Amino acid sequence: METKKIIEGTNKYIANTYKRFPVAFVKGRGMTLYSIDGKEYTDFLAGVAVNILGHCHPKVVIAIQKQAQRLIHTSNHYHNEHAVKLSRLLCDHSFADKVFFANSGAEANEAAIKIARKYSTKHYGEKKYEIITALNSFHGRTMGALSATGQEKFHQGFQPMLPGFKYVAFNNIDALKAATNESTAAVMLEPIQGEGGVKVASKEYFQFVRNHCTENNILLILDEIQTGLGRTGRFFAYEHYDIEPDILTIAKALGSGIPISAMLTRDKIAESFDQGSHGATFGGGHLACAAAIASIETLLEDGILLSECRRLGAYFKSALLEIQKKYPNIVVEVRGEGLLLGMELVRECSQVAMACFERGMLINCTANNVLRFCPPLIVTEEDIDKLCAILTEIIGRLS
Ligand SMILES: *Cc1c(COP(=O)(O)O)cnc(C)c1O
Repeated sequence: METKKIIEGTNKYIANTYKRFPVAFVKGRGMTLYSIDGKEYTDFLAGVAVNILGHCHPKVVIAIQKQAQRLIHTSNHYHNEHAVKLSRLLCDHSFADKVFFANSGAEANEAAIKIARKYSTKHYGEKKYEIITALNSFHGRTMGALSATGQEKFHQGFQPMLPGFKYVAFNNIDALKAATNESTAAVMLEPIQGEGGVKVASKEYFQFVRNHCTENNILLILDEIQTGLGRTGRFFAYEHYDIEPDILTIAKALGSGIPISAMLTRDKIAESFDQGSHGATFGGGHLACAAAIASIETLLEDGILLSECRRLGAYFKSALLEIQKKYPNIVVEVRGEGLLLGMELVRECSQVAMACFERGMLINCTANNVLRFCPPLIVTEEDIDKLCAILTEIIGRLS
């Protein structure tokens, strides 16, 4: 089918929830995507921080092929060696003792919200159910995760939100103190706000939040759906802050594109889920776990990808700062950690993303005026140089 026909098909048959670039891809290898009309694109979006190993990494492809031939799905009514292996891998590399598997980020956050309420009401009484989240946060589109999301624009038209959520300014200690009371059950935060425009917080803030939660019998939930699994140069972003959460959610990069997500927690909290409390038909299935095991094992092999992420992230960031230095009237700020970087512009930036697209570079514009970069961790200096040269030209034209 030609591109024009596909676009017509999208418009005719697919719910109109996304603004799409006018392209359809048929093949991907590493950093490169190939369109149906034979053009090549360098992918700095990586399926929105999903394809950490690049497209069609051979280890992931082989794991999926082998598993698809043997067994795809059996349900959670039976044991599953792949789910055991994957959960052990995640626990061995984190604070957690137990894992609940689901299929999307929002669904992992639903599990986090539910277990936080169950644990807190069971241990401290039915009035302790409130969850404090941050303004400008993003936790997903289901009603619970949406209610946790501290952005009015996502709530529009879907009210009423679930009761029991309260939003405070991110990276603001006083705001959190003021919002806390005896009904506060949990504080739920992203280590770096991804969709909200790659907004970072200080180490002091996260250390305060951790202590504040511990002192007041409040659970700390970290949504690492975007920041987790190597994206910021550490396996989990909380490692940058020298803290540990009580509950953590991951999704995007976990299965390299095969849908799988997880909620990780400690034994003491996990105990509040008992048989029948919660579930997911597809959660932790054989195929998705096989894809995730191959992804995580490849990511952690020799630690090379993590250290490369830190090195290339620093290289990329300083190249973006050069652009800011050159065009301070257009670029407001460059921020982020590892290979989750954002460049805030003085103006709406979808045109810049479109101009990059026309030059064969895939990036995305989030929070209206922030260019977001989250390439596969296999990105090279040459790829970064090429993108930054093109960005310099495009931003220079705006200046
Ligand atoms: C993407 C994202 C989600 C939602 O994940 P879905 O798989 O789209 O449900 C939730 N939280 C954060 C921080 C995300 O980046």
